[in-house]
Amino acid sequence: MSDNEKRPEWAPEEGGKGFACRVMDGVEGGHDGISSYSGSGKAKRKVYRRPQLTADDYADGITGGNRAILGRAITLVESNSAAHMEQAQEVLKKLLPKTGNSIRIGITGVPGVGKSTFIEALGVYLIEQGHRVAVLAVDPSSSITGGSILGDKTRMEALGRDERCFIRPSPSGGTLGGVARKTRETMMVCEAAGFDVILVETVGVGQSEITVRSMVDFFLLLMLAGAGDELQGIKKGIMELADALVINKADGENKLRAETARNEYERAMHYLQPSTEGWISHAYTCSAIENKGIDNIWSVVEKYRRITKASGVFEAHRQKQTMQWVDSMVDEHLRSLFTGNPNVAKVYGEVEEAVSNGTLPPTAAVNRLIRAFDER
Ligand code: GDP
Repeated sequence: MSDNEKRPEWAPEEGGKGFACRVMDGVEGGHDGISSYSGSGKAKRKVYRRPQLTADDYADGITGGNRAILGRAITLVESNSAAHMEQAQEVLKKLLPKTGNSIRIGITGVPGVGKSTFIEALGVYLIEQGHRVAVLAVDPSSSITGGSILGDKTRMEALGRDERCFIRPSPSGGTLGGVARKTRETMMVCEAAGFDVILVETVGVGQSEITVRSMVDFFLLLMLAGAGDELQGIKKGIMELADALVINKADGENKLRAETARNEYERAMHYLQPSTEGWISHAYTCSAIENKGIDNIWSVVEKYRRITKASGVFEAHRQKQTMQWVDSMVDEHLRSLFTGNPNVAKVYGEVEEAVSNGTLPPTAAVNRLIRAFDER
């Protein structure tokens, strides 16, 4: 075989001797399994495309512990393309019988409270106990900031390296509802892959805590001592969502203050509505950085699981959450049909003006818009 003949078939003709690739003697073209071509003319180049996976390939890969396929399945779930969404649903349907076998824990707190550090400490502890941990995030602001501030692998070094842990940053883009759907479905995929503890991180500055509360079994609020409630953006409503309140950074000079804060919160919590039926939420302290109090917090989660499973509250809670999710997706769908309706769009501006200048009462305005929507 001359040197020229050893050139792979996709090498550009004008490539000359400077073209480094040569086919080994005795090997037929296409030996590398790459079969798709792109481009035209003389300089045809072979382009490697990942083989398309069927829904069965995805399901088998995920349940068989293939991390690459797990990652691809999550990308599929996160895609906004109609074809991907359809395939994602097919995959989820196949996985459904294998989902649900986990404890789902929501973790919230203002930026800087120590969420990443806490998750790293808890995650490492859980792995040592034989668990498999998935860390997900809900951060609707990441579409604005252009990158996720949550579920950041670089801040969870030890966990990120461990095979028994899977970290996925928040899906970016879209509404909170869209981000929440993706995280919920990712949670199902991770459960089918055998992760038995799912940690969902969210930043404690608004609506996202309520959304995360509605997708987890146990909700943990991280706080700091002496930062003032207003500063921490913590409202009574958010404290009421919590199944445990944890004062982090209880170390060094801060230890005593953390203990005092714990007592204060403990007292305040007496007056709050319990987040979960049959469970009284308490306040705890920990030091995520020094790994202190983490085991105690896990024992609280375990106790919660035991009690609520025995009472049936755990299952009832999940069923209710799933139906709320279905309802909220129906709401979103109907809303988008309404806002996308051309008849509604035609009269909307007029109706808005009439409502703002006080010539049309709101109920009449609604009737007018709905009539426009119902027009064929
Ligand atoms: P996040 O923004 O809530 O995720 O907070 P990080 O985990 O990034 O932590 C913010 C800062 O607080 C970092 O500098 C951490 O090292 C520090 N930090 C986190 N946990 C503790 C702790 O338990 N004690 C002390 N002293 N510092 C901590």
